[in-house]
Amino acid sequence: METIRADVVVLGAGGAGLRAAIALAEADPALRIALISKVYPMRSHTCAAEGGAAGVIKADDSLEHHFNDTVGGGDWLCDQDAVEYLVREAPKELIQLEHWGCPWSRESNGSVAVRPFGGMIKQRTWFAADKSGFHILHTLFQTSLQFASIRRFDEFYATELLADEGRCAGLTAIEMRSGQIHRFDARAVIIAGGGAGRMFPFTTNGAIKTGDGMALAYRAGVPLKDMEFVQYHPTGLPSTGTLLTEACRGEGGVLLNRNGRRFLQDYGMGPETPLGHPVLKTMELGPRDRVSQAFWHEQRKGNAVPTQWGDAMLLDMRHLGEKKINERLPLVRDMSISYMGVDPVTDPVPVRPVVHYMMGGIHTDIRAATSLPGLYAAGECACVSINGANRLGSNSLTELLVFGRRAALSAMEYVQSGARPGAEAALSAAAVAAQARIRDLMQRGGGTETVAGLRKEMMHTMEQHAGIYRTGDGLAEACGKLADLRRRYARIELHDKTNVYNTDLLQALELGSMLDCAEAVTQSALARKESRGAHQRLDFAERDDRNYLRHSLAFYHPTQAPRVDYSDVVITKSQPGVRDYSGGHK
Ligand SMILES: Cc1cc2nc3c(=O)[nH]c(=O)nc-3n(C[C@H](O)[C@H](O)[C@H](O)COP(=O)(O)OP(=O)(O)OC[C@H]3O[C@@H](n4cnc5c(N)ncnc54)[C@H](O)[C@@H]3O)c2cc1C
Repeated sequence: METIRADVVVLGAGGAGLRAAIALAEADPALRIALISKVYPMRSHTCAAEGGAAGVIKADDSLEHHFNDTVGGGDWLCDQDAVEYLVREAPKELIQLEHWGCPWSRESNGSVAVRPFGGMIKQRTWFAADKSGFHILHTLFQTSLQFASIRRFDEFYATELLADEGRCAGLTAIEMRSGQIHRFDARAVIIAGGGAGRMFPFTTNGAIKTGDGMALAYRAGVPLKDMEFVQYHPTGLPSTGTLLTEACRGEGGVLLNRNGRRFLQDYGMGPETPLGHPVLKTMELGPRDRVSQAFWHEQRKGNAVPTQWGDAMLLDMRHLGEKKINERLPLVRDMSISYMGVDPVTDPVPVRPVVHYMMGGIHTDIRAATSLPGLYAAGECACVSINGANRLGSNSLTELLVFGRRAALSAMEYVQSGARPGAEAALSAAAVAAQARIRDLMQRGGGTETVAGLRKEMMHTMEQHAGIYRTGDGLAEACGKLADLRRRYARIELHDKTNVYNTDLLQALELGSMLDCAEAVTQSALARKESRGAHQRLDFAERDDRNYLRHSLAFYHPTQAPRVDYSDVVITKSQPGVRDYSGGHK
């Protein structure tokens, strides 16, 4: 087995991983950095982000506003010290990207343009047309190429963390091209492995978002925090789940039911505003949890629009005109035509809520450190937590930058404080054991289960019981089903037993990650007997601050359900209040 020695291993080359690698390389050119990714960096999901990144830049805005919008939008489950850090660092990071060459869209006077986004009282979302993630990722990628100390391992799939004497000391990864297992020794590891939306059947998430990074940390004993909070984005294309960015509504698009009514005014998000002139924070620019929940109610009232892919609502952008759509939303137009056969210039586009983002993830402190010394996490796989019970659109891209950098600085301090590498004998034994587990999975015969079969059952369970609205009975059933699927996972057999690009093997490993994450979601959701943000219980309809103004922490167990515990929410200056999107400019 080949051993690669680094000071810091970064798992993931999306926005968070690349930002972390650059920060490490800049801060200390002597650091040896290994950047591992199961896909080429530009294929990471960050590339798919459309709408933009939030950061205060205009004179009528303030850090206070950004803080208040984020904390209220998160239904007061955010750690407020982390949010303060986010909003303070955000403009610096976005300007830094500008200096690295990110082509932000402009006002006619040349200054950076911003657009309105859901739940934000001021316009503060920086964007590059509707291809913001592509441009951000490209900027980070090309910047990372300047540093010789960043050694890339593209198409390496990380399988396990290595630990020695209670600290993280590296990981094992499969080189996909050869099937060989490699051992990466490091004094610190940063996980930036992205989200886990693929555990649901209908999602905006790319195929790689299978929660591997979360599962690696979880199995190593680090709890997953607030996993019950799964965000539905209100406007996905019913045919494919492809996202139509919130920027459609930010630019003035409206949502209609089958009667042509802007129904959000009936769900505490009125008053109705003139077409094309959104009143910030209301109507179509309400937060994602509320807008998705409103769709659910409309559907039950029989007000949804039937399509061949099921119920939908209509996203009407016709009044924006062809020029503005082409300038601000070219990708949206392209995708609507390609995937739905509908041109938004001439017709409203059917859309429906779709699984989009995990608010929960690897439990870290404000320094991006986990409870395992030497292990750090940032980006969508982490829960620091700035998103609380519901993320506001355009805060995630900013989070990647701010906490990707933060994780790098923390890891560097840890390494420079004299962290020793793991002992050779311990690491070697752990890596050999990890290799044996992969070999066993590949060569096993007589299996009775298939990856595709178990995955389908898992997705169905999640959609049925862990969706926009949940019940105790449904969640209990889901927990039972997932426990059964985890047991059956031990009996899968791979069709392909060869070494070169064995996607059968990789999908089996990804399924293992998703099953662990899914169980953390349903068990944490079952335990939270209240409704908050994206977690809505029909049997516990109210928010219950007395008992649940707390983060959930799910602790892994190899054969049993996770233990769910709680930790305090950090409140610095905003006491829990009522989320009001009825039109008051608060
Ligand atoms: C369609 C879409 C549009 C979005 N639009 C916006 C937006 O406009 N604004 C906003 O703020 N947010 C948006 N989001 C959310 C945001 O884009 C994501 O949360 C964010 O990009 C995640 O970045 P990341 O660096 O954490 O992970 P990713 O970009 O997903 O990267 C994960 C990395 O981890 C690697 N990896 C994972 N598992 C392994 C493994 N086992 N071994 C090796 N490598 C591994 C992958 O190869 C990849 O490089 C959007 C999301 C989607 C899906």
